[in-house]
Amino acid sequence: MDNFDYRDGVLHAEDLPLSAIADAVGTPVYIYSRATLERHAQVFRDALAILPRVHIAFAIKANPNLAVLRVMSREGLGADVVSGGELARALAAGMPPQDIVFSGVGKQQHEMIQGLEAGIGQFNLESEEEGIELAALAAERGLTAACALRVNPDVDARTHAKISTGKAENKFGVPIDRGADIYARLAALPGLAMRGVAVHIGSQLSELGPFEEAFAKVGALIAEIRASGHAVTHADLGGGLGVPYKAGEVYPSPQEYAEMVARATAGWDVTLMFEPGRVICGNAGVLLTRVIRVKRSSNKAPFVVVDAAMNDLARPAMYGAWHDFDAVQPTGEKMTAHIVGPICETGDTFAMDRETDALQAGDLAVFRTAGAYGATMASSYNSRGFVAEVMVDGENWAVVADRILPAAISAAERVPDFLD
Ligand SMILES: *Cc1c(COP(=O)(O)O)cnc(C)c1O
Repeated sequence: MDNFDYRDGVLHAEDLPLSAIADAVGTPVYIYSRATLERHAQVFRDALAILPRVHIAFAIKANPNLAVLRVMSREGLGADVVSGGELARALAAGMPPQDIVFSGVGKQQHEMIQGLEAGIGQFNLESEEEGIELAALAAERGLTAACALRVNPDVDARTHAKISTGKAENKFGVPIDRGADIYARLAALPGLAMRGVAVHIGSQLSELGPFEEAFAKVGALIAEIRASGHAVTHADLGGGLGVPYKAGEVYPSPQEYAEMVARATAGWDVTLMFEPGRVICGNAGVLLTRVIRVKRSSNKAPFVVVDAAMNDLARPAMYGAWHDFDAVQPTGEKMTAHIVGPICETGDTFAMDRETDALQAGDLAVFRTAGAYGATMASSYNSRGFVAEVMVDGENWAVVADRILPAAISAAERVPDFLD
C-alpha cells in the first residue's frame, strides 16, 4: 500500500499532483511520501508487537536521506549503519546512539572509533579479526563495546545472487559452525561485551522459508553458546523482507513474518533486533521522469527515451530489476515500448517490450517502488548530475536533497600544473 494514486486522471503523491513537482524542480526527481514511510514503519512495528522484546533499526543504506531518517527517528526506529558516513547521518537525524547498530564486513579503525566515541548500542562483528581490533580500540579508551557476532548460516535466500548474503561462499559473517568458539574467544577480550548473535541472509526475499531455516540454525547456536557458559541476551535477525515491484504481486506480510519469527524464536529469551530497509521505504518513493523523445526502432516496439538513466536508478542495470512504469497523465491508450535512458550503455535499459501507457515527447512518467536502493545508489556517470529528492506531506512538499549539477561535480577536479 502506498500514497501514489490517480486523482482526476493525474498521478498524485498524497494530495499533490506530480506535475506540480516537475514544474517546480524539474526532472528527474525522486519523490517520497511521508505518509507511506510512516505507515510502513508503523505496520512493521505493530506486527512485531506479538514478540516480547523488540528493537527495530532501519537499514539506512536503503535510503539515507536525512528527511527520511528523521521520519524513522520520529517513529521510534533506530538505525543499522554500515559506514562512518551512515553513522553520522543517523546521529544528525536525531537517532539516539544506543539505538544504532553498526554492521559491515570492512569497518575501518577510524569508523570503529567514531562508533565507540558516539556510544552506539551494538557492533555486529563480521570476523574474529575485527573483534580483536575493536577490543583493543575500546580498551585503550577505557570503553566497552557491546557486540553481536554475525554468523553465516549457509542458507540459500532464493533471491538475486548479488543481494544474497547468507551462503557459505558470501563474504558476510563467520561460519555458523565456528560461531560458538569464536564467540567464546571474543567474550574473553577486555573491551568487548559479547551479548548476541546476528544474521542477515539477503535482501528482497519473497518467501519466509529461508528466514526460518536460518533462524533455526541461530537458535541452535544460541543454545550452544549458552551451554559453554556465555550469555546471549540479544539476537539480531537482520532485514531482507521483500516488496512487490509489480502490481498484483503478493509478498509475505509483516504479520506473516512476525508469526514466523515468533515460532522460530520461541523460548530464546532474548531481545530480538530487526534491520528492515526496503520493506519500510521501497514503496514510499517514485522516480519522476520526462520523456525526451520516442524513437522508432527496427525492433518492432519503439524506444521511449526518458531523462532518468541507470546512474539515477541502478537497479534494472545492476540486478535486472523490474520497476512498474506509469504515465502521470495516462490517456487510456497503451503501447508496447522499450524504456531506456540517455546513457551510452546498452545496460541503460529500464524495460524491454513493456506494455505501458502511450507516451510522447514531453510526457511525465514514474518508475514506482524507487524509495529503496534508488537515489542512494546514484552515480554521476556520463557527467550527469545527482537527482533532486522531494518529500511530500499532504499538500505540502519540500526539496530534501538539492539537485547536484555536473558543474558542481567537476568543480572538485583539478588539472595539475604539470599539464600546463
Ligand atoms: C542491507 C542490509 C539490511 C537491509 O536489507 P533490506 O533487504 O533492505 O531489508 C539489513 N541488515 C544488513 C546487515 C544489511 O546489509
